[in-house]
Amino acid sequence: VRIVVVGAGPAGVRVAELLRASAEVTLVGDEVALPYDRVRLSKLFEGAPVESLFLLRSGAGIRLMPATRAEKIDRAARVLRTARGDLPYDRLVLATGSQPVRLPLPGAGLPGLLAYRRLEDVRAMCRAEGPAVVIGGGLLGLECAAGLATRGLKVTVVHAAPWLMERQLDDGAAAMLAARLATRGVRVLAGAGTVGIEGTLHVERVRLADGTALPASLVVMAVGIRPEASLARNAGLAVQRGIVVDDALRTTDPNIFAIGECAEHQGRTIGLVAPALAQAEVAAEAILGRQAAYAPAPDVAALKVSGISAWSAGDISVPDQIVMEDASAETYRKLFVADGRLAGAVLYGDVADAPFYLRLIREARPIAKFRRLLPFGPALVEQAA
Ligand SMILES: Cc1cc2nc3c(=O)[nH]c(=O)nc-3n(C[C@H](O)[C@H](O)[C@H](O)COP(=O)(O)OP(=O)(O)OC[C@H]3O[C@@H](n4cnc5c(N)ncnc54)[C@H](O)[C@@H]3O)c2cc1C
Repeated sequence: VRIVVVGAGPAGVRVAELLRASAEVTLVGDEVALPYDRVRLSKLFEGAPVESLFLLRSGAGIRLMPATRAEKIDRAARVLRTARGDLPYDRLVLATGSQPVRLPLPGAGLPGLLAYRRLEDVRAMCRAEGPAVVIGGGLLGLECAAGLATRGLKVTVVHAAPWLMERQLDDGAAAMLAARLATRGVRVLAGAGTVGIEGTLHVERVRLADGTALPASLVVMAVGIRPEASLARNAGLAVQRGIVVDDALRTTDPNIFAIGECAEHQGRTIGLVAPALAQAEVAAEAILGRQAAYAPAPDVAALKVSGISAWSAGDISVPDQIVMEDASAETYRKLFVADGRLAGAVLYGDVADAPFYLRLIREARPIAKFRRLLPFGPALVEQAA
């Protein structure tokens, strides 16, 4: 069997590794570098060598085609057209990931404006001199800002919402986080709209809605991602936000699978590596003709800034919430309840109880008996239960 995988990110590499013993596997990726772990890109700010991020321990059994863009799928002929020739397939796996969202601001085409997505982005950041402005104060924007600050750059984070990580934290916890970041050389401007990037040959300033000009020789836009589904869309496969797949990660063409951030399963796309890898395993099983179904697990996200702990899991949008905050101790937790069960949790400062809350979310255990003790963690809850 000939398997062609498009996209050499974590999902594409995993499915290629799982299939290489049983099939002829070609892995096509448009990035120049050997496949690497995007999740650990921030290690480069600390001076880690690029090789320490590489994903494939051995290329055995995989025909690797880096720096090769897949251009078109000819479904009738079962051929993938690439910039370096045609690849016939029996099964095609799309693992094309996401694209960073670029706000259509005036000046957004100027050199010096980067996304925080690819190896080359971070390499360019490591060569840059300050001052830097990061647009977007979510998990990725803050990780990037802290990374730039460790390299000695003066960094300002401009965040449109009234406080940082507004989906995860409330204003109190976000204020603690902003104060902590300030001690690292990261200044936060929340509730600040960006109206343009200015400069002649290179970025020079970021203009805010209130007229403020922030000097910048590096601007990073970290305002979200959008699934990369263009190959699938052009081939006539069903695409909504992502490439529509069934429980076996099959698209509307039974010979084509989609996994990772480019896929949309039960109306949902993902933005984390763990579900991307889980999907790769299910697709590999299905391709090998075995019974397999992807079952979404609760999302878990953590801020990767050393010395600052923020963690969230599950559904953090439901209205029934329990909040505990201790500003002096710089700790905060918010628990989300739905149908008498813990649906989601956000922890800031002290995240030691994260595994306990994650277990409650996964097990969907009724919490009525110990609800008022829940914010105090496992010790009191186990006593009451
Ligand atoms: C800086 C950073 C930090 C992160 N930290 C975390 C974290 O702590 N925890 C976590 O869970 N997640 C984290 N993520 C998210 C995580 O990296 C992604 O969820 C994961 O990489 C998704 O894997 P993927 O294989 O679906 O897509 P990707 O990693 O995006 O890989 C897709 C690949 O396909 C290539 N491609 C696209 N189109 C084509 C084409 N037409 N032809 C050839 N190649 C193509 C792309 O260039 C890319 O290399 C982080 C992301 C970033 C950017």
